[in-house]
Amino acid sequence: MKKKASVILAKCNQEKKLYGIRIEMRDNDWVRTWAFKLKEEMAQKEGFDKTTFSGSFFTDDEYPGCPWCGAKKCFICGSCGKVNCYDGSDKVKCNWCGAGGTAYSDDSAIDVTGGGY
Ligand SMILES: [Zn+2]
Ligand SMILES: [Zn+2]
Repeated sequence: MKKKASVILAKCNQEKKLYGIRIEMRDNDWVRTWAFKLKEEMAQKEGFDKTTFSGSFFTDDEYPGCPWCGAKKCFICGSCGKVNCYDGSDKVKCNWCGAGGTAYSDDSAIDVTGGGY
């Protein structure tokens, strides 16, 4: 079987800088395997800014974390659907659209529900 892999665009929560996350399809789940610093022009040229993914996201043991701050987790914004690195604090702010929210673990299937006060 041919390996299916792609790159998701993400922003660092600490440094407000762009990076790319390499993901690989394994058993119908996306697995994050690598992350690297990325320039905006580069992302546009490669079309990373136009790709969308759905499904479950897991983190490979080898995944090095955010190339700027080292955070291993990511959170996906509930408003714009884009990815930010996530250092484990419970309040997060999306660096793409500015929406605030409560982070949730993305180590299982993405399933956001309302409530939870
Ligand atoms: Zn970061
Ligand atoms: Zn957002």
